[in-house]
Amino acid sequence: MATDHDPMDFFEREYDYDGEYQVEPNAEGDVLVRTVCPACHGRTSTQFSVGLPSGAKGPKITPARRVTVVCGCGYPHNLRPSTTAESGCGAYWKVDLA
Ligand SMILES: [Zn+2]
Ligand SMILES: [Zn+2]
Repeated sequence: MATDHDPMDFFEREYDYDGEYQVEPNAEGDVLVRTVCPACHGRTSTQFSVGLPSGAKGPKITPARRVTVVCGCGYPHNLRPSTTAESGCGAYWKVDLA
C-alpha cells in the first residue's frame, strides 16, 4: 500500500478536516465514509448508520448529516492504550454526509 503514513505517537485530539473524502451509501441505508487521517495520513473507512429514508407514511427521519470519524488506519501507534477499541492514532474529525 503506497502511503506516507506517519507513525506518530497515539494522541486523542480533534482535527479540522479539509481533505477529500468519499461517502458511499449501501443498500441498508448505511454509509461508508472513506477519509485520510489528517494526523497520520493513514486511510480509514468508517461505516455509519444513518437510517433508511423515511417511508411514504412515517414521520420524516432526518439522518445525521455530520458525523465524527475516528482514525482507524490500522497501523501501530506508540502509546495507544490497550483498552481502546481504536485502531488508529487517536485523531478524530468531522465530515458532512452531503
Ligand atoms: Zn495511523
Ligand atoms: Zn490517524
